Amino acid sequence: MEPMKVFRPTGLALFAIASIALAAGAQADAAVAGPRLAPLKVLDPAYMDTTVKACKDFSRFANGGWLARDTIPAAYSSSGVARDMADRNELVVRSVLDDVMKKGATLPAGSTQRKLGTFYATCMDSAAAEREGSTPIKPELSAASAITTRAQLLDAIARLQITGHDVLFQYGPAVDSHDAAHYTAWLSQGGLGLPDRDYYTREGAAADSVRTKYLAHIEKLLTLSGEPAASVKADAQLVYALEESLAKASLTLVAMRDPAATDHPMSARQLASLAPHVTWASYFHNAGVTRPVTKLNVAQPEFFKRADSLLATAPLPQWRAYLRYHILSSASPWLSTPFVNESFAFSSTFSGAKELLPRWKRCLRATDSQMSEALGQAYVAQTFPPAARDRARQVIEDIRTAFGERVKKLTWMSDTTRARALEKLSKMRKKVGYPDTWRDYSKLDVRERPFVLNELDANAFEWKRTAGRPGMPVDTTEWDMTVPTVNAYYDPSKNEMVFPAGALVPQTFDPKADDGANYGALGGSWAGHELTHGFDDEGRHFDAAGNLRDWWQPSDSVTFSKQAARIVAQYNGYIQVDTFHVNGELTEGENIADYGGVLTGYDALQRALERNGRPGLIDGFTPEQRYFIAYAQTFRGHERDESLITRVTTDPHSPDRWRVNGPLANSEAFAKAFGCKAGDEMVRARELVPEIW
Ligand SMILES: [Zn+2]
Repeated sequence: MEPMKVFRPTGLALFAIASIALAAGAQADAAVAGPRLAPLKVLDPAYMDTTVKACKDFSRFANGGWLARDTIPAAYSSSGVARDMADRNELVVRSVLDDVMKKGATLPAGSTQRKLGTFYATCMDSAAAEREGSTPIKPELSAASAITTRAQLLDAIARLQITGHDVLFQYGPAVDSHDAAHYTAWLSQGGLGLPDRDYYTREGAAADSVRTKYLAHIEKLLTLSGEPAASVKADAQLVYALEESLAKASLTLVAMRDPAATDHPMSARQLASLAPHVTWASYFHNAGVTRPVTKLNVAQPEFFKRADSLLATAPLPQWRAYLRYHILSSASPWLSTPFVNESFAFSSTFSGAKELLPRWKRCLRATDSQMSEALGQAYVAQTFPPAARDRARQVIEDIRTAFGERVKKLTWMSDTTRARALEKLSKMRKKVGYPDTWRDYSKLDVRERPFVLNELDANAFEWKRTAGRPGMPVDTTEWDMTVPTVNAYYDPSKNEMVFPAGALVPQTFDPKADDGANYGALGGSWAGHELTHGFDDEGRHFDAAGNLRDWWQPSDSVTFSKQAARIVAQYNGYIQVDTFHVNGELTEGENIADYGGVLTGYDALQRALERNGRPGLIDGFTPEQRYFIAYAQTFRGHERDESLITRVTTDPHSPDRWRVNGPLANSEAFAKAFGCKAGDEMVRARELVPEIW
């Protein structure tokens, strides 16, 4: 479900993202257990609205009953299946955290369990956060204010990056696109305070209004930190101008979908001539990279030229203001109420959320993000027995087999490309539930102190764990998502699909549910989708080993692109909010994955029914009908307009409604299952339907 990780070096700082996604607050939240939540079903007829014709609007047919009844809770930007699953997962995780927090000092000093409890407890201590205000980050703010030379500036940038601040650019080790067995050093664009470069360049009243709010937000945080009123306005302008200059040199999300656009391997010498004002050896040394970096990838060379020239020419007062703002922005969710409220108010511009999440949820997410594998073991013990893992694996293997059968039958693909596609498919690794080896937290520094310092040190722990990797063999056992996460991903540079246990519970999957439901939800919507990412407009550029290599016959590439253009045109035609359209180019890979997932999951269901036998009608539906309903119900959801608008700008996934109606309107099996005819809304003319998989 997640976008692929082609362009993102691993070890990317999560702090800045978290401050947008889950702005924190200081409302005290009594440590009472949350409400009991009813169990979810993989297919729930109560969600349906059978007064809507299945062939007219299947998304409403499958989810309309629920949509009519549901109200988005004030603290959220959206509501639906992901939220419902996460709520249930969070109750499990909370019971684990409450337990270690209570045991506290009775746990061995230095043990992972003790650190887990301390991390969560210091986060939950709202009284301490109020008392401390911005005191914990004062030393870092003062250091930024004291910068008087360009060398000090570069040192400060490296130091802040280590503790998770997205300043100027991003560094991280990533799998080498040309030698997938080893890591290389990746340098990529970054340093913005708004969610994407388009927010700085887009024209029109709506865009102006976001920029005005952003300037006010910068002013507010600087003011709260004690900066004199006389200077905050000018400083906010300086911060914005610096970011705008970086944004204008940044690539768009659409441009970066082409892996070649971010593939610029170079030597240390070439880097030095690209960005001569950075003393790179000293930067890497400060960033904790102990071995000499001799080769690396600069994802966006034009951006680094700009960054370099700004480092050399932008006035130091401008840099000092920029760094102070980013220090405040990262820390605000964890400081006292005025900071937290401002951070939340600004983030709601993009989410539409009306109120803060309760503190325990914010702290739980911070703990999961920083100490996930300490939590993961306890989560798995409570939710994901070996039998569930075995059955989930079976569904995923059926998907692999079904996809292979489709590839063997494709009439448009040459035998040469076909043989390589089948090789890639057979070598695709799958990770199901949880890692086989768990992370070691012995070097993580967690203490009784203001929580924001534990958070910053946890970012540094993660940075140091991975920063020195360039040149080393790739760790194929590592997971990029936490165990209780309701999500999954395909990583083309490792050729692997990964399904955390948090996603392998109802409503996605239930070892006790019927095949129709499980193969629609886990099979089509999740496994088929992730697997297809290996062959979408991005993933197909990587070979079986994960190297960026063109293994397609040129004529096959031409046919693929022609057919994919039909998907782009189809989704460009979907209007979401007012005049905001789905961006067919941005969402191309996800839409191909959705469509491939639907087709493949259906075939896998047929295999399962042959093996396990056909049940009679369940809830009045055939296995095939249940397949499509369960698929559609994995997209049960709605969201606020603010969030939808952010999504069509930055999210490579289409909105839920189109993730259902888009692929199903292209599927002949769907039309057959529900008796839809040519001319029905849910049946697209054959000449418009892409023939990819
Ligand atoms: Zn996806």
